[in-house]
Amino acid sequence: MQYVFGPVLSRRLGLSLGVDLLPPSKVCSMDCVYCECGKTQRQNLTLERREWVPTEVVKGELEEILSNPELELDFVTFSGNGEPTLHTRFGEIAKFVKEIRPDLKVALLTNASTLWMGEVLKELKYVDLVSPSLDAVTEKVFRKVNHPVKGLTVEKVLKGLKKLKETFGGEIWIETLFVKGINDSPGEVEKIGEWIHRLKPDRWQINTVVRPPAYRVQGLTEEELIQIARRVNYNPTDIVCYNYLRLEPKKKTEAEKVREKLLNLVKRRPSPLGELKRALNLTEEGFEELIETLLREGKVELVTYGGEKFLTSTQKGE
Ligand code: SF4
Repeated sequence: MQYVFGPVLSRRLGLSLGVDLLPPSKVCSMDCVYCECGKTQRQNLTLERREWVPTEVVKGELEEILSNPELELDFVTFSGNGEPTLHTRFGEIAKFVKEIRPDLKVALLTNASTLWMGEVLKELKYVDLVSPSLDAVTEKVFRKVNHPVKGLTVEKVLKGLKKLKETFGGEIWIETLFVKGINDSPGEVEKIGEWIHRLKPDRWQINTVVRPPAYRVQGLTEEELIQIARRVNYNPTDIVCYNYLRLEPKKKTEAEKVREKLLNLVKRRPSPLGELKRALNLTEEGFEELIETLLREGKVELVTYGGEKFLTSTQKGE
């Protein structure tokens, strides 16, 4: 598979099948200091919309994976190596997902740089959830944190977010990623907060640098994020990097079911890591993230026996 990856356990979306619509070299309208995909090369920093990867190949991969009726997911998500809305046919691909699996929800993670374009908003017809980024609302801070392509201003981003709010019928979860000393000043936080209250997203998700970033920058502590959440006082706000899967769903997400399945398995008996990974059908990354979280929460422990690593429950009596 070249363009479809996972399912992965996403902090924000639960169990998610990723669709990457940009080439591996990363194509994006920004070069964010915190990007997990590395720096955006100058020649790939663009707002040009085109069919960056072949639509038919993406559809073929999706068909192959989604035709498995046992595959349960919370979302099929457009994300990955760059800005997905730069692909001119992402709306058609979303429609294709709905045609083969109408039961699945489609999410779009976007940096919001193209939402002021009418043609991009039209492509959202088959998308259930849009999660746009808003890391700054003043031009100076926007340039510092997002390093946008020439011609892209924060004014355009805010205009796009307003248009999204007016025209999109699905859910909107705005994400703000705070970087120490760059977009976390009291003044900027206050202005971001004003925009959040004005745009009224279904959720405001605040995040910080928790994975190796493209530039040498640092994240905020949990306490600092809590302070920001208190100051902005928007409901609902999720601190996604520190509260794993605290999404307050109406029903259990697939990710929570996987977590529960793992806890039940290890409650019965210590299980080798390899066996658990196979039983849960997760990617390496998703599996490691889940184990790390459960270790951090003190729900499980690792023990070595006969040279092999086993996971055991710390809650056997419950
Ligand atoms: S918008 Fe997303 S993909 Fe593009 S540079 Fe920023 S974090 Fe990376």
